[in-house]
Amino acid sequence: MAVVDLHLHTTASDGRLTPAQLVRLAASRGLRTIAITDHDSTEGLEEAFATARDFPYMTVIPGIEINTDAPAEEVHILGYFLRYHNDEFQDSLRYFRNGRKERGRRMVEKLNKLGIHIEWERVKELAAGGAIGRPHVAIALVEKGYVKELKEAFDRYIGRNGPAYVERIKLAPQEAVRIIRGVGGVAVLAHPGDLRDLESVLTELKLAGLVGMEVFYARYRLEKIKELADVAKRYSLLPCGGSDFHGLGNSNEPLPGELGPPEEVVEALRRHTLQIQKGGGGG
Ligand code: AMP
Ligand code: FE
Ligand code: FE
Ligand code: ZN
Repeated sequence: MAVVDLHLHTTASDGRLTPAQLVRLAASRGLRTIAITDHDSTEGLEEAFATARDFPYMTVIPGIEINTDAPAEEVHILGYFLRYHNDEFQDSLRYFRNGRKERGRRMVEKLNKLGIHIEWERVKELAAGGAIGRPHVAIALVEKGYVKELKEAFDRYIGRNGPAYVERIKLAPQEAVRIIRGVGGVAVLAHPGDLRDLESVLTELKLAGLVGMEVFYARYRLEKIKELADVAKRYSLLPCGGSDFHGLGNSNEPLPGELGPPEEVVEALRRHTLQIQKGGGGG
């Protein structure tokens, strides 16, 4: 068990626990620092901060996860210590969330054309006002018995090469790094072990001001973690990480705090943030 978890989702995007429930769970598991990193949304943060007041020894870092596309694959960028009360930033997030909604609606249409009868109304209900994601479509498919589990929904229908896949709004990873830095935040590459062309992604993102990459990622085995730690060192990136908990309830899902970076990494991230906020670059 770790005392730091820098990758957690709530009902503000495709997580299944409310921010309050998540903070309580994290506290009960002995976590001391958590970051809430919902997809394209900071809507869960106020509730998380309010709940965290009941746990004075726990710090909640305002975070985000922005999904982007490199030419050949998906690249997810995490941001921490955001000064998120910023109109331009919130406008961008709203634009991405509207794109998610449109994309979700079109995926349901494609599924319907394939003879799969799930309803867009149900998908919206599952998202409950949060940023819509493919997991919401996947849950609707499980509910109707078309697939047994979420993974099967991705494998058969809505994965990148699936027959019901719809592209997201085009956004380059560098752009997400800039958006995060624009509100004084530090940008970190999420689950880099999933990338086929990690080194070229890192080379580009370092230039854009990337500060860290996930190393202590709960889904990865020890061997992978060691390999990523070495890459992070070579690129002078802070080794971050966490559980990427969504509360989906599958038995193999890592729970909050299952793995995370050491506390000094949080302090190093904070120092970078101060530099960025002073305009010193920090990259
Ligand atoms: P979206 O943001 O709509 O593109 O959906 C991507 C999200 O779906 C990721 O952040 C994960 O939470 C989830 N996801 C991606 N691939 C899978 C998979 N194979 N099985 C279950 N969930 C997945
Ligand atoms: Fe997700
Ligand atoms: Fe991700
Ligand atoms: Zn995530």
